Amino acid sequence: MHQLLFLNAKQPIKIFGGEEEKPYSREHLLELLAGINTKDSLYESSKLPENEHLQVFLNNPIVSIDSDKQFVIDTKGEKHPYSALVMAVGATPNKLQVPGVDLQNIFTFRNIRDAEQLKNRQVSSRNIVIIGGGQVGLDTANAMQRHNTNVTVIEHSSRLMYHQLDDHASVYLRLYMDDLGVDVRINNHVSQFEGQDDKVEQVVLDDGEIIPCDTVIISIGIKPNVDLAINSGIHIKKGIIVDDKLQTNKPNIYAVGECCEYNGVVFGSVYPGFEQAECLAEILLKDTGKYKGSTSTSHLKVVDYPILSIGDNGDDSVSNVSVTFRDIKNMTYRKLVLHNGRLKGVVATGKWKTSKNLHDMVKNNDRIWLWQRRRFEKTGEL
Ligand SMILES: Cc1cc2nc3c(=O)[nH]c(=O)nc-3n(C[C@H](O)[C@H](O)[C@H](O)COP(=O)(O)OP(=O)(O)OC[C@H]3O[C@@H](n4cnc5c(N)ncnc54)[C@H](O)[C@@H]3O)c2cc1C
Repeated sequence: MHQLLFLNAKQPIKIFGGEEEKPYSREHLLELLAGINTKDSLYESSKLPENEHLQVFLNNPIVSIDSDKQFVIDTKGEKHPYSALVMAVGATPNKLQVPGVDLQNIFTFRNIRDAEQLKNRQVSSRNIVIIGGGQVGLDTANAMQRHNTNVTVIEHSSRLMYHQLDDHASVYLRLYMDDLGVDVRINNHVSQFEGQDDKVEQVVLDDGEIIPCDTVIISIGIKPNVDLAINSGIHIKKGIIVDDKLQTNKPNIYAVGECCEYNGVVFGSVYPGFEQAECLAEILLKDTGKYKGSTSTSHLKVVDYPILSIGDNGDDSVSNVSVTFRDIKNMTYRKLVLHNGRLKGVVATGKWKTSKNLHDMVKNNDRIWLWQRRRFEKTGEL
């Protein structure tokens, strides 16, 4: 919507939201939980513009789409015709399918109400368990920490931030989390939750270990919201499938953000969604533009340890070549992932002042010359 107005759209635009709250920046919820950002500033950064062409329907989700007659029906039963429909319906946290998961004080973290509930638990909890050692799980662990609270992170894979980091970077991150007083377990699976009076009291791991807890936060990734699409005959796999015009299989129905899947990829961060929105505005208003995919970048928001992950993490060592620099004393590790001499990804831990241009270099698949690789191995600079 912002991008359409930025390009001076003169057509009426109707925007429907599914939450009770006015729009806010989901990306900054962790900072709200950590007390380093306020609710007002989250609202402020997502404020809707006043514009004669814009009509806003909050807390009024669309419940069905008639793609033949080109109209949608909102939750109040009202029909709204469209010439173009953009689905930006986001995602829902994955659930852990184990016994006891419905006990009280087991949470997921997706919206501002979740943040408020978790803030209340910060005060009363003494033993918090976070399930999932991804970016949101780790930042949540740090945000929930108080001097008299034990926080444990349980990750089922062999390393933290599995898809973004590699084994080396993940070891440094784990050491850092240890230093913060967060107990990190890897290669551990939860087999069930147990409790009394409907309240969670312990997490049971599949090796039989028991971790006492009074609060659990499940942070094991997201599932794109696809039900509306399925019921409307729109094709999905993991997410709503779009082509390089960001169009679904139905004419004039598009999808952007975490609900959509392009080339087999669902992006779980904001910048790909912003790129898609920018591209779609061009497609809709100027009939130009083509989406070519996005390069995702990750860093931690609340944990004060610089990690950087851009694009490919180099796990596919058959087709990729890695060039690395290590400075163990300063817990610094940097890796360039190259494919046919071109930059496909970067993984790094520790401060890196000159890392600013790396996102564009990965996005543009810049060539990295032999002399640059040699210099990088010696100095850690490109
Ligand atoms: C705690 C947390 C921390 C995060 N931190 C970061 C971060 O540091 N960096 C980063 O890049 N990303 C972060 N993310 C991810 C980021 O917030 C998401 O990638 C981004 O919000 C996705 O935007 P979206 O518009 O696709 O979906 P959403 O933000 O989920 O918005 C979709 C909206 O559509 C509404 N909706 C759903 N169905 C309907 C319907 N039928 N009709 C009308 N409305 C509907 C939903 O209620 C929702 O408000 C974080 C996410 C969480 C939960």
